[in-house]
Amino acid sequence: MFAARYVPGKKELSLVEVPKPTPGPLDVILKIRAAGICHSDLHVLHGEVPYKESFTMGHEACGEVVEKGSEVFGTFNPGDLYAVHGPNPCGHCNYCRTGHDNLCNDPSRTFIGLGQDGAYAEYLKVPARNIVKVPKGISPEVAAVATDAVLTPYHAIKTKGGVGLGSKVLAIGLGGLGMNGVQIALALGAEVTAVDLKDANLETAKSFGVQKVLNSKQISSLTPLSFDVVVDFVGLESTFKDAQNFVKPGGTILLIGLGSAQVPLTTATAITFETKVQASFWGTHVEMQELYELIAEGKIKPQVETAPMKEVNHWLHELEAGRVKSRMALIP
Ligand SMILES: [Zn+2]
Ligand SMILES: [Zn+2]
Repeated sequence: MFAARYVPGKKELSLVEVPKPTPGPLDVILKIRAAGICHSDLHVLHGEVPYKESFTMGHEACGEVVEKGSEVFGTFNPGDLYAVHGPNPCGHCNYCRTGHDNLCNDPSRTFIGLGQDGAYAEYLKVPARNIVKVPKGISPEVAAVATDAVLTPYHAIKTKGGVGLGSKVLAIGLGGLGMNGVQIALALGAEVTAVDLKDANLETAKSFGVQKVLNSKQISSLTPLSFDVVVDFVGLESTFKDAQNFVKPGGTILLIGLGSAQVPLTTATAITFETKVQASFWGTHVEMQELYELIAEGKIKPQVETAPMKEVNHWLHELEAGRVKSRMALIP
């Protein structure tokens, strides 16, 4: 089968033929219907995450179950879509058993498509416990990108940020995650202000119902210390400083973006105002089920474009150059 594989030291994925995977007793084989591409892929290709072995990339997967292991029960109908919980938790550690499976740190846990074979291929082997049924009416490409580009902001904003009815939220950055993030905050009943450098993104956010949008260059016109929650989808020094300027005393900064290796915290201000800085990582299996319901109800409309999977290197370059408008899913 076709696979696009990371090779240590190479800046592009190698497009190769590899054997189709066979399931272990507790695995299923998904015929991939769509695989989302993500900035994390670029971090790997730039050598920022030092993987020593080759693997098939792609951690945002959706497909149909075409084969199952001898100990997997349940029926999988042709045409039914399943999405993959990318953190691939072990299922038996205390994090997993208490619903915090995004934090699973068991040695058996491996991230799908990040260090272990992922979804830029025709077929993917994955533990049956780590797939989530996708409700009817959701396309494979939307289901695929939702596994990260919706799940990550959902976990951050709802679970870690406690955003709810009437929360005043400032969203900094309207890329793939930010554009879904503002819709999630609105669905939870928040009053949302969004800033971005691109006016086209601001218009899109407005069309989703974001109450106030403004260009990042005008951010100083906002009232200081006025937001319950500031979501930094960018994670640069400058955006993290903005977050500190605009979060209320006792409020929360959600740090999601990996734009900079380090961000500065102004200790005197943070201590005086008891600012909560909450980092957030991906999301849980249960949250994946919740967000597919929200997508099925039309409360979140993930923006996604599609392209043939064999063009993966081209689209990784486009993503790097900032020319991917929303989120891109590859179709085998
Ligand atoms: Zn990702
Ligand atoms: Zn675990």
